[in-house]
Amino acid sequence: MDSFRLKRPDEIEKMRVSGKILGACLAQLARSVRAGMTTLDLDREAETFIRDHHCIPGFLGYDGFPNSLCVSINDQVVHGIPGPQVIRDGDLVSLDCGLILDGWWADSGLSVGCGEASPEVQRLIDTTRQALDLGIAAARPGNHIGDIGAAVQSFVEANGYSVVRQYVGHGIGRDMHELPQVPNYGKPGTGNLIKPGYCIAIEPMVNVGRPETRVLDDDWTVVTTDGKLSCYFEHTVAITESGPEVLTLRPDPVLADVQ
Ligand code: MG
Ligand code: MG
Repeated sequence: MDSFRLKRPDEIEKMRVSGKILGACLAQLARSVRAGMTTLDLDREAETFIRDHHCIPGFLGYDGFPNSLCVSINDQVVHGIPGPQVIRDGDLVSLDCGLILDGWWADSGLSVGCGEASPEVQRLIDTTRQALDLGIAAARPGNHIGDIGAAVQSFVEANGYSVVRQYVGHGIGRDMHELPQVPNYGKPGTGNLIKPGYCIAIEPMVNVGRPETRVLDDDWTVVTTDGKLSCYFEHTVAITESGPEVLTLRPDPVLADVQ
């Protein structure tokens, strides 16, 4: 993990470009999820999109990860390896992707229900998405890193869910994982003071049951220890004088379909 350095405005401008491409990539992938496809199909689509936009698939080979996309189903939290697993109607599908353009990273992800999501799955998705929004809102100059985690944790727990502790958000820039760490739990007013020039990935992982996780024998796939559902959303966010700016915004799927 690199040491921490504030990003200059021209550097943030470059990250805007990589972030915008990743946002479009994930919007397309989210629309592609359907029953009968394999998780490897999604990976192939991600890699094609990234290369077609003259970017490097950041995950491919990162610490030995074998693919361009993480696909995590149901009780899988993060870091699922794409393969022959067939996605079924009602599955909770979490996608995590990263890319590099001109040396600058973007890292983002989302969860979608395949086909008709059950009310249980939909409430988990909605809560996790809202938790990310609250975390982003707390990432403003003058606040502390702990304010982000506190905002996420209090909302998630008020909804009866738990936040994963073993995996956290992070600074991002020339490397995917830079300092500071950005936990999804914490106390207000603790941790680094947030200043303009921070670029961080905020990524709440929310469990229906207990927060504990374990790693499968493939050395990558993280699952909930109690086998219950887990959901995940992530955005790369730049902190500017005027507040947090989401760099990996996804185009509105309805508008994107008609444009
Ligand atoms: Mg990620
Ligand atoms: Mg990340």
